[in-house]
Amino acid sequence: MTASNDPELYFAEDGAPRSGRFGDIYYSLQDGLSESRAVFLAGCHMPDVWAGRSDFTLLELGFGTGLNIAAVMALWAETRPTGSHLHIFSIEGFLVSATNAGKALAAWPELTPFADALLAQWPQKSEKRARRGFHYMDFPEWGVSLTLGLMDVRAALTAWEGRADAVFLDGFSPALNPDMWADDVFALVADRTKGGARLATFTVAGLVRRGLQAAGFTVEKRPGFGRKRERLEVVRAGKTSPAASRPKKLAVVGAGIAGCALVHEARHLGLEVDLFEVESVGAGASGNAAALVTPRLDAGDNDISALFADAFAYATALYRQLCPQAILGEGVWQCEATPKDVSRFERIVRQSGFAEGDLSLFAAGEVADIPQASGIGLNTALWVRPVDILSVLRGSKNSIQACITGHKLTEAGWQVETSSGSVHAGYDAIIFACGDGIFDLADYRARYDLRPVRGQVEIVSDTVPLQSATSWGGYAIPLADGFLFGATHEREDRGVDVREADRARNLDSLARAMPERAARVAAGPFHSRASIRVMTRDYLPVVGAVDEGVYLLTGLGARGFCLAPLLARALLNQIIGVPSALPRAVKNLLDPRRLLPRGDV
Ligand SMILES: Cc1cc2nc3c(=O)[nH]c(=O)nc-3n(C[C@H](O)[C@H](O)[C@H](O)COP(=O)(O)OP(=O)(O)OC[C@H]3O[C@@H](n4cnc5c(N)ncnc54)[C@H](O)[C@@H]3O)c2cc1C
Repeated sequence: MTASNDPELYFAEDGAPRSGRFGDIYYSLQDGLSESRAVFLAGCHMPDVWAGRSDFTLLELGFGTGLNIAAVMALWAETRPTGSHLHIFSIEGFLVSATNAGKALAAWPELTPFADALLAQWPQKSEKRARRGFHYMDFPEWGVSLTLGLMDVRAALTAWEGRADAVFLDGFSPALNPDMWADDVFALVADRTKGGARLATFTVAGLVRRGLQAAGFTVEKRPGFGRKRERLEVVRAGKTSPAASRPKKLAVVGAGIAGCALVHEARHLGLEVDLFEVESVGAGASGNAAALVTPRLDAGDNDISALFADAFAYATALYRQLCPQAILGEGVWQCEATPKDVSRFERIVRQSGFAEGDLSLFAAGEVADIPQASGIGLNTALWVRPVDILSVLRGSKNSIQACITGHKLTEAGWQVETSSGSVHAGYDAIIFACGDGIFDLADYRARYDLRPVRGQVEIVSDTVPLQSATSWGGYAIPLADGFLFGATHEREDRGVDVREADRARNLDSLARAMPERAARVAAGPFHSRASIRVMTRDYLPVVGAVDEGVYLLTGLGARGFCLAPLLARALLNQIIGVPSALPRAVKNLLDPRRLLPRGDV
């Protein structure tokens, strides 16, 4: 970790975790859990507050070692309404390492399953610097999701679009950490809570009470826990509004990576899905023999680089955990394609959206497959077998073989119409995740500025194994007895026929990066495949509503395997009305309405 966000955790003589940076204790090992329960869980009237709720949203300022969150997960698992979901957004500016958190949480064996689950997805595995930004984690066995915002508290509250039912104001004491207990932070918290929401905190400091009151909260001192005489229970002005009815049944059109990721994420949210596929799973662009899972590299810590970094972290963690058998290898070399890439890569390597060690520069002579090249190593990127990923994400959900040609709103909800004239009805929402098939749907082809880009890849045997996946404008991925390489980019072309001319272009591209290898395999035989990417003019994906109850998840361009899982979750969260998995600004960037003709919004 860099000096700028290291809490400098150490264990004092009594074993209690302390922060050298803030000069304060995290909690005592004797009664830390009891205090967490008394101050925060009981202080927010849990579990009574979530009785009868299908979704409950908790905001926490000060994640610390994760003790409050592990405790609330344990209580939720025991008392949650059947089929309900807990959505947590917790903010931490100074994350402790998984090792230290594990040591601190080990004091409470009753929390072990929850602590272990948190530690398994902990953003900072070693003492290295963690990635800044949103870390989306899922705990489906208990119906819990956690977005850990590793960032400044003001930036995090501004980026998060949720509104909380309950808030834990934790963090080091106001005297030692005044930045967190400031009036503008209380105003942001008020903005991010629902009317009637409950807040709890351990401190009764005058500036905290006055600040919360000024922000519209009613504050009450209550008897404290242990050595602390008092604590605060706080209620946000306004009435608790009855929860809106949650969509239950969705139609998803298309069984590529977008559709299969939707099925997977919907399962975790307790949503029922009918998956429609005209041909077979992976029949479209998602069906190549191998694919890279790499982020687009944008210089500058901005919303676009955050999108790709967050999605990349979520997808790689998901594939590692759920389908390790799909992972063919790890670590991708991306060569400099233009002289400008030298300084661009130098900037990107230092960007806070990636964890220390995720990226590193390499010089000519360091990579055996491409000895002449220098560039950036994406050390945690993967190359995968798509068919296995689609199969695991889809699970036991069989697709319904049908070509969807239209949709209509009826009194019984949305219905989809098929090319054979049959109708499937009773949906609360429809999601078009049909890749290139979107261009056959007149409503969308005519209105939204989406662009087809044809691509062809080749598979060939080779006597000299490729060591690692490499990209240079083209790319090559090792396979069992050869490699896959490509790919062509042909705009406004929807043909999926295999073309000799495209193979020649792919070989030319390979020859620029790996001349000896290209010469050796030039005679083939080749196994080639062509399919269609969906692109947008700003090269960003398309996620969101196009009508009330009708949504798009498309425009994944050349990064479907990086983007689809997080975007699928973000879209489903939008559909059921819970906080997005994406920062607000990123979500807005992806709104389909940006692709409508001007004046049509
Ligand atoms: C040559 C090439 C190489 C690529 N390499 C990579 C890579 O290495 N890594 C990476 O991340 N991305 C890569 N991409 C991009 C990636 O393949 C896409 O971003 C991704 O596959 C898009 O997924 P999708 O689910 O949106 O669409 P698709 O995979 O195309 O799936 C759409 C599905 O919808 C079905 N469908 C269409 N219309 C209808 C309808 N009306 N009714 C019912 N079903 C319908 C289709 O049959 C299809 O199965 C590559 C793309 C190409 C072309």
